[in-house]
Amino acid sequence: MSIDTLGVVGAGQMGAGIAQVAASVGLNVMCSDISQEACDRGRAAIAKSLGRLVKKERMSQEDADAALARVRFSTELAVMADADFVVEAATENEGLKAKIFADLDGICAPGVILASNTSSISITRIGAATRRPEKVVGMHFMNPVPIMKLVELISGIATSEETAATTQALAERLGKTVSHSKDYPGFVVNRILMPMINEAFYALYEGIGSAEDIDTGMTLGTNQPMGPLTLADFIGLDTCLAIMRVLHEGLGDAKYRPCPLLIQYVDAGWYGRKSGRGVYDYSEA
Ligand code: NAD
Repeated sequence: MSIDTLGVVGAGQMGAGIAQVAASVGLNVMCSDISQEACDRGRAAIAKSLGRLVKKERMSQEDADAALARVRFSTELAVMADADFVVEAATENEGLKAKIFADLDGICAPGVILASNTSSISITRIGAATRRPEKVVGMHFMNPVPIMKLVELISGIATSEETAATTQALAERLGKTVSHSKDYPGFVVNRILMPMINEAFYALYEGIGSAEDIDTGMTLGTNQPMGPLTLADFIGLDTCLAIMRVLHEGLGDAKYRPCPLLIQYVDAGWYGRKSGRGVYDYSEA
């Protein structure tokens, strides 16, 4: 099946980014979220991001306008009936994703691949919520999607080679480089990244250093483009906590215990950049 229309479930940071990149290479995009506000935020995020590319002269105004016009939004998941391939990028919650995939299975034509952008949740279990587990795959984009080159491709135990090959070809069409991971908690990237971020929270929690000390130390001391706490705010502290919980429960090792301070920030609604407050304050941003 040729892929002309991409379905994207979730218009948050990642869904909007995936929609933008797909529309920029000429695909039609059908993007769904649960509320009109979320859809409007997604459209505004895409318009802003495309505007930045135009300003930097990496895209013409005409191409940016055409890309934005190729993305349609809806509050109904049923619009995914028009999609040739679906990427789910809703909140990192297994019950929610299982429900979305079961619903997509009933909505989409039998040949359509259903991919999840999950950061950590078992592709095998998401696949088992459908009657097409061979067509369920992990397609893990990095944030921000228009900038970051990698897509981590995760095959669940039932994912077919054909599904993996089609997904890899789509990722490459979107200008991405693919790395492969087996289907274990956190896959490769978050199995390594998230414990580092969690450890940075422990360093803050235990008063080993201030947030600025920790970020400066890791930025200049280990040559990372941003410190782990800044990165956590960027990813979303709710998403970081959800991933740590998947690692902790899935691997059963106390070393993955989420830091109580990370839990407290999330309890407070301090999710990072997207909520205006995380480790740092973005209310002026
Ligand atoms: P986000 O909070 O910015 O967006 C999530 C969106 O999902 C929200 O707009 C929410 O309204 C929507 N949503 C919730 N339930 C829905 C439903 N039933 N149908 C449609 N939409 C629904 O989160 P995000 O950062 O975009 O993360 C989305 C997914 O991408 C998660 O699985 C996350 O783990 C993964 N991911 C995140 C990052 C990151 O750095 N933030 C990186 C890679 C992957």
